[in-house]
Amino acid sequence: MSQDAEAWDGPVLVVSAHAGDFVWRAGGAMALAASQGTAVSVVCLSFGERGESARAWRDGKKLDEIKAMRREEATKASGVLGAQIEFLDAGDYPLRESDVLVDRIVQCFRRINPAVVITHPLADPYNPDHPSAARMALQARVLAQAAGYDAPGEPLGAPPVFLFEPHQPEQCDFKPQVLLDITEVFDTKRRAMECLPAQQHMWDYYTELARRRGVQLRRNAGPNLGLPHDTMAEAYMRLYPQVTRVLR
Ligand SMILES: [Zn+2]
Repeated sequence: MSQDAEAWDGPVLVVSAHAGDFVWRAGGAMALAASQGTAVSVVCLSFGERGESARAWRDGKKLDEIKAMRREEATKASGVLGAQIEFLDAGDYPLRESDVLVDRIVQCFRRINPAVVITHPLADPYNPDHPSAARMALQARVLAQAAGYDAPGEPLGAPPVFLFEPHQPEQCDFKPQVLLDITEVFDTKRRAMECLPAQQHMWDYYTELARRRGVQLRRNAGPNLGLPHDTMAEAYMRLYPQVTRVLR
């Protein structure tokens, strides 16, 4: 594929507020890492049962039914992407930040020992659950690094954090600093998206977004790489500086 044939550094951990977020926004990264034999895990803080299941509510389903349905869909989607998923069932709309929930996320960090962390951006005026998830993920990452923090496992290193693209990026202070070429796994991402019929309106939206980000990727990569016309991409922001010996 692209300019970068290097392998992923180690386990990838995605912290997702709701059951669908990781699929739309990081499904390509997940499928790409998994296709290279890297362990990929999703920690899903809620099912999106209240805020992102409008169709099920309109169909007259009850809360427990909706949670079970969203659990099944997200499990299927993460399976398609080649990832493990666990649900902390912390509730949504609102997803409440608490020390107890952060501690549960710390335990995930210590167990999974990720080399790469992916989560929501820190601003989203449309959906406070998303920044809440991001704040808790970031706090858990820092606590998991502390030798003195009481949780099983070894202290965490300093895995880089990538913030995935929110639904309305301009409103969330999102700038595409990293464009990830997901062309070779895009069909897998599309199949994962199709596991979520409750949010069918998102399938084409995120296909078109991947196409647009793909055009931008090619523009930034320059013509010499000969990237195909149909390059598909996902955009990310970096939270911490890139550490490198070579500027590239
Ligand atoms: Zn969400």
